[in-house]
Amino acid sequence: MLTIITKPEEVQNTAGEIRAGGTDLHDRYHLGVSAGPIVDIYKLKSFNDGELGAITQAADDSTHIGALATIDQVARDPIVTQHYAGLAKAAAGLATPQIRSAASMGGALLQRTRCWFFRHPHYVCYKKGGDGCFARARHNPNGVIFDAGGCVYPHPSTLGMALLAYEAEVEVYGQGRRPIVALYGDGSDPTRDHLLAPNELLTYVHLPPPVANERTAYFRAIGRFEAEWPIVECMVRLVVEEGAITFARVGAGGVAAVPLRLANVEAELVGQPATQATIERASTVAAAGANPLPHTAPKVDFLVGALLHTLEQALD
Ligand SMILES: Cc1cc2nc3c(=O)[nH]c(=O)nc-3n(C[C@H](O)[C@H](O)[C@H](O)COP(=O)(O)OP(=O)(O)OC[C@H]3O[C@@H](n4cnc5c(N)ncnc54)[C@H](O)[C@@H]3O)c2cc1C
Repeated sequence: MLTIITKPEEVQNTAGEIRAGGTDLHDRYHLGVSAGPIVDIYKLKSFNDGELGAITQAADDSTHIGALATIDQVARDPIVTQHYAGLAKAAAGLATPQIRSAASMGGALLQRTRCWFFRHPHYVCYKKGGDGCFARARHNPNGVIFDAGGCVYPHPSTLGMALLAYEAEVEVYGQGRRPIVALYGDGSDPTRDHLLAPNELLTYVHLPPPVANERTAYFRAIGRFEAEWPIVECMVRLVVEEGAITFARVGAGGVAAVPLRLANVEAELVGQPATQATIERASTVAAAGANPLPHTAPKVDFLVGALLHTLEQALD
């Protein structure tokens, strides 16, 4: 059954899985992994003068992205490209032009895991009500390198990773704002890809006012040119003043059950000279605490190398 809603409040009384652009949800339906009623929210795009599909800057310079803005909008919008360039680069780098023009900001954050076993109708893993992770015991080169003990497939959200590095907040209808880190938790619950309950509607992403003179870079290590989730991805924001790094925010994806902000790398960068030696030392810190699976050990070097490359681009 399909219900199309036109007001946010309707979502709370309508049973079914929310559909925005449908690029993830439909894939799961076609694979026979998801079933049941659908609550289509696309028409909310025109609710309240189109706020939920828009990107706007407030008087205090903070920026608000409606959950139904497309990834393509995020990649091209002048506010984002000018003030949050790392986010725009991450958005432009993911999936394909067709997916980016259909997929929404909310769906990009709340998409389900890409694990082959989860997406196979015959395997009932933690995330489908089972009591184990099939990927853990099998050949799984795409898996995590920071193993929280449950599901070993990395979180798929590129924009989740980028928004962590931007210290964004997300707004849930009727509940107000929470830091984006609270949308994902620490990855220790293997049954969840995010911590929203069914029928909770993500309405906005809020970005703090821009940081002056920040340099940004985004890099993905990927098996083919496009149309693939990355092996590892990194996003970096740096401010350099008089030759020293005075501000650093670093995100990494493809390595853990949740998108990660690498605070230990940031601490290694801030206060140091903006030199090759500094970023080489900081990149190695990214691997601290890694406990890879037998097949994912090479990804530790991928993370260190990808981060170094991203930092080099930001300083270039
Ligand atoms: C070939 C290919 C490559 C890709 N590569 C990448 C990549 O590198 N990085 C990356 O991040 N993604 C990648 N993607 C995934 C893509 O980004 C997602 O499919 C897309 O962002 C989902 O958005 P959507 O609006 O279509 O979501 P939908 O399919 O409509 O929904 C996805 C999930 O989010 C929930 N949801 C959606 N909106 C809301 C809301 N407002 N409130 C509450 N719940 C909501 C839905 O209930 C559903 O569970 C790729 C996809 C393809 C096909």
